[in-house]
Amino acid sequence: MSDISAFLIFGPPGSGKGTVGAKLATTTGIKHLSTGDIFRGLSPASENGKLFASYAGAGKLVPDEVTVKIFSRFVGGLIDTNKFAPEKDSFLLDGIPRTVAQAELIKSVVNIKHIFVLDIPDYSIIVERLLKRAKIEGRKDDADETVIRARLKEYEDKTAAVLGAYNESLITKINGAQDPDTVLRDSLTAYIKAK
Ligand code: ADP
Repeated sequence: MSDISAFLIFGPPGSGKGTVGAKLATTTGIKHLSTGDIFRGLSPASENGKLFASYAGAGKLVPDEVTVKIFSRFVGGLIDTNKFAPEKDSFLLDGIPRTVAQAELIKSVVNIKHIFVLDIPDYSIIVERLLKRAKIEGRKDDADETVIRARLKEYEDKTAAVLGAYNESLITKINGAQDPDTVLRDSLTAYIKAK
């Protein structure tokens, strides 16, 4: 078990993990770390950059071993460059673990203190949000409804089960369909209680 403390913001694609995660991090000082952002920051010409493009473009998850390797290397880099101090800082993980195998593999990197689940059972809200985000941010995987549906299927098939790997007392469910300020308020309340 690692000494690095982490909170986890969890939910399907388009549930607001990135938006709420960034605001929660700014308000509390915890360090927001999104694996989607890490992957999008890879050089597109690199081996891993190409691998990411092929999986993400099809709405599929990148394989576990390589995901955890890239994640661990990134965390190590933050520590080595004094951007994260394990003895006083905590992470807010967004996008990892996304499979039960990843939950097992990251145990040696981070110790998960609490999980905030952004719950949105109505997928039509998600599809609408992501298609709108595609126009603003230009993400290719958001622009195509077939790819969005594939991502939601990956979430149901592989990611939803991750919650079963953690003790129920670590999990707080938040209604992710509310307006962003209310979701932030509920997340902050849960964070203060969990801290
Ligand atoms: P969203 O939550 O909207 O799907 P992300 O930015 O979190 O967006 O992820 C984009 C893509 O990055 C995913 O579809 C997947 O291909 C890849 N990805 C991100 N995190 C992981 C992970 N932990 N394991 C495997 N693939 C991942």
